[in-house]
Amino acid sequence: MKTADCTRLPQSAAMSRMLVWIEEQHFLGFGCPECGWRFNASGAPTGTSFDEMMRHFELERDREFSSHVCADHPRNSRLDGTPLIQALNC
Ligand SMILES: [Zn+2]
Repeated sequence: MKTADCTRLPQSAAMSRMLVWIEEQHFLGFGCPECGWRFNASGAPTGTSFDEMMRHFELERDREFSSHVCADHPRNSRLDGTPLIQALNC
């Protein structure tokens, strides 16, 4: 999951918020740059092929990202230090 598949990013990702790849001391994955929300997959991706698993993973990720409320996830950078946030520049 190190490489973001830019061709699959929904056009709507350019809304107000944008999903970003985050590398922190205790977390490596996708998250919200505006708050402390991080995506944790609810389980192993299901599917009969890698493409299908990726599709399910991305669907769940995008759905959870778009439905989270920033105010409910205050950033806790005081504990983790400054997170390294890289925007997905496609
Ligand atoms: Zn947020």
